[in-house]
Parts: sequence; C-alpha cells; structure tokens
Amino acid sequence: MTQRNVILLGGPGAGKGTQAARIVADYELPHISTGEMLRAAVARGTEMGREAQKYMESGSLVPDEVVIGVVRERLAEPDAGEGFLLDGFPRTVPQAEALDATLAEAGRAITHVVLIDVPAEELVQRIAGRRTCAACGKIYNIAFDPPKAGGVCDVDGGELTQRADDNEETVRNRIAVYEEQTAPLVGYYESKGVLESAFGGGKRPDEVYEQVRGILAS
Ligand code: AMP
Repeated sequence: MTQRNVILLGGPGAGKGTQAARIVADYELPHISTGEMLRAAVARGTEMGREAQKYMESGSLVPDEVVIGVVRERLAEPDAGEGFLLDGFPRTVPQAEALDATLAEAGRAITHVVLIDVPAEELVQRIAGRRTCAACGKIYNIAFDPPKAGGVCDVDGGELTQRADDNEETVRNRIAVYEEQTAPLVGYYESKGVLESAFGGGKRPDEVYEQVRGILAS
C-alpha cells in the first residue's frame, strides 16, 4: 500500500483532535500531536515542559526549534516509518520546511494535507464547549457533541475536564496566532498540490469525517 503521510490543518477548535482519533483508528496510523506531547511534558515537569508552558498559557507558539526537535525524534521511531498523522504540526512555514527536509532525507514526502475549514467566530464557541476525558482523552463538546450522561465520558466514565488554555482570552490570541503564522501554510501546501479542504462550519463530526475519508481515499 502507498504511504499516507498526513497533516491535519485547521484553527484551534476546528475539530482536528476529533477527526484525528477517527483517522488513526481507521487507517492504523500513529497519531502525532505536538499539543499532546507538549502537555505531557508540562505534566511531567520536564525542562522542555517548563519552557513550553509559558508560551502555551498565553496561547502563543512554542519556539520552532523546540517543536521541530520533538517531531524529528518522533518521526524517527519505527511506527512512523509506514505513514503518520500529524495533528497541530507544522504551525509555521519554517516548521513546514524543516518537516519537508526531514522527510526528504528518507526519500519521503507529505501525501495529504487536510484543512478543516471552520469560520473564526465559530471556533470561539466550539472551544468554550470543549471537554476532554481525563482518563482516555476522548474529546466532547457540551453544545455540539455532548456525552450521553452529563459530565462523564461515554467510554470509561472518566471525569470531563477543560484544557487550561481553553479560556476566552487565550482563545482569541490562539486564533490570531493561527491567522498570522499558520494560515500561510494553506498556500504553501496548495502550491505543492497536496492540500484538500473539508468544510467544518456548522457540521457534526460525522459529516466532516465523511469528507476526510473522501480526501484520504484519493
Ligand atoms: P494544540 O493542542 O495543538 O491546540 O496545542 C496547544 C498549544 O501547544 C498551542 O497553543 C501552542 O502553544 C503549543 N503548540 C502545539 N503545537 C505547536 C507547534 N507545532 N508549534 C508551536 N507551538 C505548538
């Protein structure tokens, strides 16, 4: 089978994490989320975690050299050799260039960039309702995709928690950072002929996933 080396692109709250969970289950790809890796480093209190926390709390980007190093190491692990799903990386043009260079060294390239396109005003609303299971990480939205029983995870009954950076002030900064630093990647990948869009505005996760499957089938 041909490799799927996939990037999920989209603003904060666009639904990348929700779509990522489905993609990695169906296509058996390792899920590489820099946000999750950084949150794990913060929780462990490592030196990198302490450094990254300052940026994450304000909704700014962690410096390129830090995240590029993390992703390079992760891509060198054997499970990423046959394909991967990157979620939340790259977020800047220098990150995208570093990724291309790393893959090219191994004779590989990005095969699909899936943009989940959601209007900025809807992103703020979605983030306000986002909750994550403390046990398994499953993502819910109390307005759009609620758990069956109030306040606990459908899968394991775990407590639903809100991310520290999901408050309104930080969210506005994260959206501004996305527009300034990450949105240019749309043109970057368009010019390489690998970008496809899934429309997420006002759509349920199932409806977005239908589009994503169509993109990954090509
Ligand atoms: P996420 O879970 O993808 O929304 O990421 C949460 C936070 O982690 C972001 O607001 C950034 O502070 C940081 N972060 C995650 N991925 C990156 C990246 N590729 N480059 C820089 N900072 C990142």
